[in-house]
Amino acid sequence: MYNDDVLMSGLTELGLNPTAEQIAQLHTYYEMMVATNEVMNLTAITEYEEVCVKHWLDSLCLVKAISVDKLNTPLRLIDVGTGAGFPGIPLKILFPSLKVTLMDALGKRIRFLEEVVAALGLSNVTCVHGRAEELGRNTQYREQFDLCTSRAVTRMASLTEFCLPLTAVGGAMVAYKSQDCEEELTEAAKAIRTLGGNLEDTVKFTVPNSDFGRSLIVVRKEKATPAKYPRGGGKPMKSPIL
Ligand code: SAM
Repeated sequence: MYNDDVLMSGLTELGLNPTAEQIAQLHTYYEMMVATNEVMNLTAITEYEEVCVKHWLDSLCLVKAISVDKLNTPLRLIDVGTGAGFPGIPLKILFPSLKVTLMDALGKRIRFLEEVVAALGLSNVTCVHGRAEELGRNTQYREQFDLCTSRAVTRMASLTEFCLPLTAVGGAMVAYKSQDCEEELTEAAKAIRTLGGNLEDTVKFTVPNSDFGRSLIVVRKEKATPAKYPRGGGKPMKSPIL
């Protein structure tokens, strides 16, 4: 029913060798996303091969920054502003050992994700409705994650204040950015330093089977985030640390 040539060759290029069950989980996820998209705005991309490349392969490109061996361990990963589940769900499907928290400010997207998690039979996945800047002040979430991913949420200076408070000392945040990210990275330098981070790497590549250039910005959490961050009242967005 599905032509998975593009998906399979892309996964091979990323060094991934999925089981038939994992591919079936991706199919079910696709079907649920497209059906729900009729009644709720989840994604502008619905054509199967385009979803394979722009959502799944793109999400799984995390292997360019974090090794497959590490992703096959029970790392605590939080996906900030996960939306329809990107990159968090494809990562959980391909790396079932991960302990994944999917977080978004929109409750209806979180309810959709709860249905996906149940339908796919995924364990160790928590779906949380909330704002990153609020969860970052809650001890249940603050500095509790080894990895904090985020794609297409906001500019780096603001995103750092969403992600670094959630990241444990020794862990890292990984921001999915476009290839030209130098300007926003320069703008974020003070926020990264202030929040206890250190820019470790900017990994640039093209997503398999596309001409889409990406950067993954890896910020290591070296010191605890000062207690006054993250700030409330929309400040990380309206007046980022510059
Ligand atoms: N990460 C997904 C992707 O790449 O397809 C969704 C990207 S969508 C453009 C941005 C998402 O971030 C939305 O679902 C929105 O509700 C969420 N978001 C924006 N600000 C947020 C915040 N402060 N805390 C949590 N989620 C937030």
